[in-house]
Parts: sequence; C-alpha cells; structure tokens
Amino acid sequence: MKKEALLVSACLLGEKCRYDGGGKYCAEAMRLAERYEFVPVCPEVLGGMPTPRPPSEILGDRVIAIDGSDVTAQFRLGAQRALAAARKAGAVKALLKSGSPSCGRGLVHDGLFSGKLVPGNGVTTALLEENGIAVCTELDFAPLES
Ligand code: SF4
Repeated sequence: MKKEALLVSACLLGEKCRYDGGGKYCAEAMRLAERYEFVPVCPEVLGGMPTPRPPSEILGDRVIAIDGSDVTAQFRLGAQRALAAARKAGAVKALLKSGSPSCGRGLVHDGLFSGKLVPGNGVTTALLEENGIAVCTELDFAPLES
C-alpha cells in the first residue's frame, strides 16, 4: 500500500541546513517513516538563503536577521515553496522543527534575540495551516501516530 506523504523539516532528518550549519536529527521522529513517505523541505534554503546564515527572528509582521537585515521576503518565498512541495506530494500533514521562525508552531522567539519564547507560529507553519495542512513539531507528534 502506498504510504501517506508527510512534509518534514529537513533538519529533523539530519540535513545540515540550519542557520548554524548543523542539523537536528530526531531519532524518535524516524519511526514515522514506517507509516509515512517523508517529503523533506528546508523553507529557509528554499527561500534562497545560504547555510550557514545569520539567525533570524519574527518581529511583528517582519522577519529580521541578527545583523539587522530584513529577510521577510526570503522567508515568505520559502514558505510558498514548502507549500508547493506539500501540494505536489499530496501531503496534508507536516512534522516541523519547533522554535524556528520558519517551522515553529505555538511558540517562537520573541524577535529581540533574548532567548525568550512567545506565542506564535513560524512563517511556513502559518502558511501551511492557512492552507489546511496540519502541522506538528518534534515535541509532540502523537497526532501523526494515531
Ligand atoms: S528552516 Fe526549518 S527545516 Fe530549515 S533548518 Fe530551519 S527549522 Fe530546519
């Protein structure tokens, strides 16, 4: 039987695409591979950003890098491309990386590079959810197992 497609943050699969040049391999999430066909995406790379890159945070309706540059356009482009990848694969669910200004869900950094988290969604998560794609993070993906 064909497995259901699941959009996944590429860094959770170990891809070294994070701002610091590393990955965030999540061994627990790998058990989902029994049930799902992973569709890996890194929205920030899809948006044309290099790796490594300066960390960015959401501030109001913008995304600002720690060097002060406005990277909102790249984040929005990456979100659109991640949505396109989900649609192409027929994915209606996503497993994304918590805390990221692209992939976070429920909590994101406060925009001041203070280390504090505040309620909110990453740019890609928000766009996916607006388009009917259910997003979980690696911190709680029980809904993907039921
Ligand atoms: S944008 Fe998402 S997939 Fe890419 S490194 Fe950040 S958390 Fe991982």
